[in-house]
Amino acid sequence: MKTIEKQKAVCPKCGAEYFGRPALSRTDGTTLICTDCGIKESLDSIGISKAEQDEILAVIHKHYNAE
Ligand SMILES: [Zn+2]
Repeated sequence: MKTIEKQKAVCPKCGAEYFGRPALSRTDGTTLICTDCGIKESLDSIGISKAEQDEILAVIHKHYNAE
């Protein structure tokens, strides 16, 4: 089993520093972005409004940080 190293990276989309596994941007399919932007892009693609995206992310963060 290969373990993924926790590397610090900067998201080119929002400029935030993030650790761990990046998401692949849907816009060009090659850019690595932070998980938050990855989630936002997926929600965007199914027609979720920006306000709702922020609400969903807040819920995700709440559960994620609780781990
Ligand atoms: Zn980002």
